[in-house]
This record gives sequence, C-alpha cells and structure tokens, in this order.
Amino acid sequence: MEECIFCSIASGRQPARIVHQDDLVTAFWDIRPVAPTHILIIPNIHIASMLSLSPNHQDILGYMLSIVPAIACDQGLDKNGFRVVINTGPDAGQTVDHLHLHLIGGRRMSFGFE
Ligand code: 5GP
Ligand code: ZN
Repeated sequence: MEECIFCSIASGRQPARIVHQDDLVTAFWDIRPVAPTHILIIPNIHIASMLSLSPNHQDILGYMLSIVPAIACDQGLDKNGFRVVINTGPDAGQTVDHLHLHLIGGRRMSFGFE
C-alpha cells in the first residue's frame, strides 16, 4: 500500500522544508505555494480529514491552531495578516488525505471562493 505523503514528511522519510516540528505536529512549506508564504501544519499522527475528527482530537486540533501565531510571526506575517484554511473533501479541493491547515500570507487576498 502506498504510504501517505504527509505521514512520510512527518516521519522524515520524505524531505520537506520544515519550519517547525515537535512531538505533535509538523509545519513545512507547501510544494506549490499560492502566495509568498504558504505553510502546511499537520498532526504527526494520520488523521484523514476534518470529517475524521471527534471530541477526543480537541487537544491536537487546538494545538495545531495555537502554534499558528508563532509560525506567522516567524514568517513576518504578524503585521499584514494571513489566512488559515482547512479544505475538506473533493468539493473543497482536498488533494491530500491527511488533515492539514494551510497558513497563507504575504499578499493581499480577496474573499473569493472560486
Ligand atoms: P489540499 O489541496 O489537500 O488542501 O492541500 C494539499 C497541499 O499539499 C497542496 O497545496 C499541495 O501543493 C501540497 N503538497 C502535495 N504534495 C506535497 C509534497 O509532497 N510536499 C509538500 N511540501 N507539499 C505537498
Ligand atoms: Zn498521513
């Protein structure tokens, strides 16, 4: 069975431009950035999508959100702001079935959802 690409990044078997890693999460640059800063934050454990979440995941999800400010500040996004996105399922354009939070910034964004 083919291994989940984000599990491979979290375990170090697949290279990525990692900006933060600890016991719970890994944050790394998106391979196809849509803005000057585009970082993905993932749980180190495999969670397929937001649909797989249940109340016993609140610690990991809360932690994923709680490290956003530090990473955003490191990337110089604290002055002009940034966007956090979690795509879920095909209609939202989820292409990797391992829960990930997009941290996007460095340019002006419209509210458009094409
Ligand atoms: P989604 O479309 O599922 O919300 O986001 C998946 C993101 O993962 C995409 O923005 C895509 O560019 C990124 N991505 C896919 N494969 C890789 C990879 O192997 N390495 C990195 N760093 N990013 C990836
Ligand atoms: Zn995975």
